[in-house]
Amino acid sequence: AVAESGTCTIVSNEGNGRMASSIPKTQLIFLGTERIVPDFKALDVMMEMLNRSAVGAKISNYFSMMTGPGRAGEADGPEETHIIIIDNGRSGILGGTFQEMLRCIRCGACMNICPVYRHVSGHGYGSVYPGPMGAVLTPLFKGYEVAGDLPYASTLCGACTENCPVAIPLHELLMEHRHIMADIEKTRPKAEEAIFTAAAKMFGNSTLFDLGTKAGAIGMNLISNKEGNMPTWTQAIPVMNGWTKSKEMGTLKFKKFRDLYAEHEKNKKKEKK
Ligand code: SF4
Repeated sequence: AVAESGTCTIVSNEGNGRMASSIPKTQLIFLGTERIVPDFKALDVMMEMLNRSAVGAKISNYFSMMTGPGRAGEADGPEETHIIIIDNGRSGILGGTFQEMLRCIRCGACMNICPVYRHVSGHGYGSVYPGPMGAVLTPLFKGYEVAGDLPYASTLCGACTENCPVAIPLHELLMEHRHIMADIEKTRPKAEEAIFTAAAKMFGNSTLFDLGTKAGAIGMNLISNKEGNMPTWTQAIPVMNGWTKSKEMGTLKFKKFRDLYAEHEKNKKKEKK
């Protein structure tokens, strides 16, 4: 929405946005508080960023601007227009740790580049706002009880942050959610804490990591089913069932990347000689 004129815009690649907004006699426009720019100059910047970041195009197929009800002599347009500005927790985000999230223009670039969401699809985890930006926003709107798992659905590789046109530090905000849940509000399961404390010790020590992954590979291969995946009874194990309930979890391989890399380096040295 453009504050100086009360104009509202729809950006779409199908004509139904334009049809649905011009046929009804009463037009209801819902928008979040952060979807308002002061003037058309600012709208220009927004639209340029939105299209390029969303689909890599200069402009979308349809870009509609609506300023109030249809006027006398116009072929279509509503008789009445009502603009409803929704807060729903947004003003609570203002001034806090997650304030940068209010800059989001919903372009979806973070989702398209994300190695997790590229595979599970945008709405894979059930939040209305998809992708990394949804993983930061949804817990803020719905609370950690409902959406506390979303910030954990990330490798924290930072690809989202690098691709965000408005420079929102998404992976840092995901970390911040984890920090609040684990260290401040202590909402995560105790079993998860124990597992990750042990994992942190193992990942921080090369010998322990080698021994741990070897033992893990032996253990997992001993209990795996004939397809080489974890058997269904492992779905009863807390925390681990987050992975095993909805998809098959493969076993650890005996030969790790470190082994392959060491082999590669050895062969390189041999070739040089
Ligand atoms: S967080 Fe950035 S990349 Fe993701 S939708 Fe919002 S503006 Fe686009």
